[in-house]
Amino acid sequence: MPMPPRSFVRPLFVAILAPLLLATTVLATPEETKITEVAPGVFFRKAQTEPVFTGCNQGFVVFRDFVLVIDANFPGQAENTIASIRERTDKPIKFVFDTHYHGDHADGNMQYVKLGATVVAQERSQPLFQSKGADGFEGAKKNRAGEYGALSYEIPSLFFTHKLVFDDGEQRVELLFFGHAHTAGDAVAWLPKHRILFTGDACVNGAFNYTGDSNTESWVSVLGAMEDLGVKTLCPGHGEMGGAEILANQKRWFVELRSRVKAGIDKGQSLDTIKEEFDVPFYKEWTGKESKDQKENIEHVFKELSSPGKPLGLKSRLHRHPHPHPSQPIADTAGSER
Ligand SMILES: [Zn+2]
Repeated sequence: MPMPPRSFVRPLFVAILAPLLLATTVLATPEETKITEVAPGVFFRKAQTEPVFTGCNQGFVVFRDFVLVIDANFPGQAENTIASIRERTDKPIKFVFDTHYHGDHADGNMQYVKLGATVVAQERSQPLFQSKGADGFEGAKKNRAGEYGALSYEIPSLFFTHKLVFDDGEQRVELLFFGHAHTAGDAVAWLPKHRILFTGDACVNGAFNYTGDSNTESWVSVLGAMEDLGVKTLCPGHGEMGGAEILANQKRWFVELRSRVKAGIDKGQSLDTIKEEFDVPFYKEWTGKESKDQKENIEHVFKELSSPGKPLGLKSRLHRHPHPHPSQPIADTAGSER
């Protein structure tokens, strides 16, 4: 292919390459924690993940009279986040939304509660907070005594089923539930005016997926429902922010992971053989890590696909639920499943 004439090269650089260079300099590195104002009064706090994993990504939205925080983080990181909020606004932190019950997203709830905030989560996460969440917190009090010390576990006190809206005429944040994804009670924060989506771990950007509480079949549908929102800016649970391509990458990983594992099962291969031969080249392009090393993900999907229809306790019971689209009214079925 011939080189383009020189006169085309410069406009090409200005039009295509320069914005790309700009975009890469704006992004944070894995070694830093960085706060970006994504839209007026809407902040994304990207957490440092290397060489030390410090916690989850968070958001905070400054309303006319109060601040809403998206994900509490670990107790120590929660204190840092509160200090960063205080550098930007004096308005009281009134609400903290836990996208799900995992400790790196929710163990710091008490730091906000002691300031008078109410912690909000999706209703299906309530039993998970009360069981696995509480157990994890007790474990952390032993393993991370310096940070957790005398702190006591704080479970959300406000639960919603499908949708909860904060709207003061200036900011609008919709908390939405689309179904079982990373956990049974995942919810996301959608800012329709700016088309910004905070996903928690229902969507991450990089090799951060933990599938132990997930239903990967349902997760793919949930990601499809999120794509239907028409996202412009995506703030993931871990890793760099970006656009709708992060949703596409996250979905593609689960689609390809499931199809590779299924092909192995159909051939009668053992889990060990499937793990040995496992290769999804796209995964390395996306995350920089080998797909083969995602052993926890492969094992979980193998378990899901080799015992289809077999109830997996709470997880699969909670999965029997339609995946609502926020624009459609949904009959609540949660009561009948308890
Ligand atoms: Zn998680």
